[in-house]
Amino acid sequence: MDRAVLITGASRGIGAAVARRFAREGWRVGVNYRTSRGRAEALAAEIAAAGGQTALLPGDVSDPAQAAALVRAAEEQLGPLDALVCNAGVALPQQLLTDTTDEQWRQVMGVDLDGVFYTLRAAVPGFVRRQRGAIVTVSSMWGVTGGSCEVAYSAAKAGVIGLTKALAKEVGPSGIRVNCIAPGAIATRMNDNLDEEAVALLREETPLGRMGTPEEIAKAIAFLALEDSAFTTGQVLSPNGGLVI
Ligand code: NAD
Repeated sequence: MDRAVLITGASRGIGAAVARRFAREGWRVGVNYRTSRGRAEALAAEIAAAGGQTALLPGDVSDPAQAAALVRAAEEQLGPLDALVCNAGVALPQQLLTDTTDEQWRQVMGVDLDGVFYTLRAAVPGFVRRQRGAIVTVSSMWGVTGGSCEVAYSAAKAGVIGLTKALAKEVGPSGIRVNCIAPGAIATRMNDNLDEEAVALLREETPLGRMGTPEEIAKAIAFLALEDSAFTTGQVLSPNGGLVI
């Protein structure tokens, strides 16, 4: 398969699992990272050893110039993009709205919502020119339901859902699909700050009785990017073990 995908925030966690998944399907993979060059190189080496092809693409998606440069570099090094996965994200420790500082609010909005907008604004013209493509944004179940003591994160991730639905309507007539994945609790570095008690409670409240894995989210993202979901656009798929139904 001769196709290219750009994945933001791909050096670890869900993004790295998505990179491995697309590489296994034979796609050329743009691995964006912000600071973790070493980890991104290790991932690229792993994919190359399995016969896959990657481009390492530095860039902070919360900076509009860097997001635009990142998309340009991806297209130069990989060729026209067939898919884009807006995965980069940050979360705060759980805290009250009244304890959330301006800097924390801006940090979460800057990466989780602005970063998606900046990346899409740079990438969408190429998709429109080619009249095809699949875009997957990464929200969270908290963007659907609101998470207690997660005001900034929930607001940013709810914004991603609104953006996804609006863009799906805007670019559907150009043959481009835009869908959103809203994972439940997934075992990645993002949840490292949860103590044992919090993890046990999450398991207990989840009908499937466990946290999800990055690979399970990668499979759901690949489904939304591939022809298997050719008639699906503007939708939110939430692999969350039944925690939110
Ligand atoms: P993670 O912290 O392991 O990965 C996040 C990645 O985003 C990292 O590689 C990080 O370097 C990158 N990143 C952060 N800021 C960036 C920036 N400004 N520019 C470019 N890259 C940046 O966590 P993860 O769980 O793999 O998260 C991936 C996505 O999934 C995030 O959008 C997150 O909000 C979402 N998500 C995670 C969970 C979960 O439980 N882990 C649940 C729902 C949604």
